Amino acid sequence: MTDQTQAALEALFNLAEQAAENAYAPYSKFRVGAALRLSSGEIVTGTNVENVSFGLTICAERAAVVRAVSQFGPKIRIEAVAVANLNDRPSPPCGACRQVLAEFIEPDAPVVFSAAEGKCAMAFSELLPLGFEMKLK
Ligand code: ZN
Repeated sequence: MTDQTQAALEALFNLAEQAAENAYAPYSKFRVGAALRLSSGEIVTGTNVENVSFGLTICAERAAVVRAVSQFGPKIRIEAVAVANLNDRPSPPCGACRQVLAEFIEPDAPVVFSAAEGKCAMAFSELLPLGFEMKLK
C-alpha cells in the first residue's frame, strides 16, 4: 500500500471511530462505527443501532450503506471501508454486512478494521471470496 493510501485509510478509520460515539448499543455495549469512501469522494458513516428485539439490530456497516444509497442514489460505488469500535475488540464486518457491501463495493477495495492487535487491512475480495450472486437471464 502506498503511504497516501495508508494515510487515507487511517483518516477513514478515525471517522469510523468518531461514528462509533453515536452508537445505540444499550444491550451489547459494543459500540461500532463504519466509514465508507465512495468513488465520488464522498465519505459516509454509520453506527450500530440495536433493538430490544435483537434480530432487528443493524450493524454500523449496513447503516452506512443504507445511508449512502439514501443520500447519493443507487449507483454508488464503495472504494474503501473502515470499521472501528470503542471496545478495543476485533471487529471485522460480519457475514451479513459483507454480503450487503458486496452489492456496491469494488472487489479490490481495501477494508480496514480493528484486529486482535491493532488494525488489519485487506481487499474486500479476500473478506468475501464466494459471495452470493444472482445472474439474471
Ligand atoms: Zn454486520
